[in-house]
Amino acid sequence: MRIARFSIDGNVAFGAVEGDKPDELVLDIIKGIPFTDFELSGTKVPLAPRDAKTRVRLLPPVLPNKVVAFGRNYAEHARELGNEVPDAPFAFFKPATSVIGSGDEIQYPSFSQELHHEAELAVVIGRMCREVPRERVKDVIFGYTCANDITARDVQRREKQWARAKGFDTSCPLGPWVETELDPSDLTIQLTVNGDQRQLGRTSEMIHSIEDLIVNITEAMTLLPGDVILTGTPAGVGPLNVGDEVAVTIEGIGTLTNKVIKRG
Ligand code: MG
Repeated sequence: MRIARFSIDGNVAFGAVEGDKPDELVLDIIKGIPFTDFELSGTKVPLAPRDAKTRVRLLPPVLPNKVVAFGRNYAEHARELGNEVPDAPFAFFKPATSVIGSGDEIQYPSFSQELHHEAELAVVIGRMCREVPRERVKDVIFGYTCANDITARDVQRREKQWARAKGFDTSCPLGPWVETELDPSDLTIQLTVNGDQRQLGRTSEMIHSIEDLIVNITEAMTLLPGDVILTGTPAGVGPLNVGDEVAVTIEGIGTLTNKVIKRG
């Protein structure tokens, strides 16, 4: 099931996405929140492409307490930036305030001249968990969505901690929705800028599996429903400029699209 979060006439709700054609999608509004048992209300509203006249506006699919992002989890990407492939997973945070949804704008920050895209599979956590054993990992996953780990590459090189380089406002596009029934082990992950392909990989190329990553992070901390794990980016990262439209497409999920604007 594809579960979207959206606003309708100013109220926030979750809905199950029905339909296949992008301009004919319908949301069946969910009663309650999707992390617990929920029902479909049967009340349906069209999810038309965003414009000022539509009542429905897609929001980020979850409001995470934290986004835990793993670095250098695809060997070719580690090498393209001149980095060693790490022996163990290593994680950093993107704050909740960095999250935006599909159709929202990425604001190019004033303190960078080198903004990069990073297409990533995002795992959405469904229940509170800690010290999750490998064989229980699937029980704590709610579903999967697309992410773009937007990075101020010049700032990342300059500053030891990546809080500013990877944590500025709008640096974590997520969406368009969460797919709850998906085998994530071998999916195509693709990124285009203004329609030109820049990144293409498969999730099977990850060095550390999703199980490894969740075991690793939950050794250290509790994850909450709605928390998001970014699983690393394949090779092909590169610059974004003001005016660009960047799109992440993951097989079986959908497409996350964002435009880059200058921060006002
Ligand atoms: Mg990344």
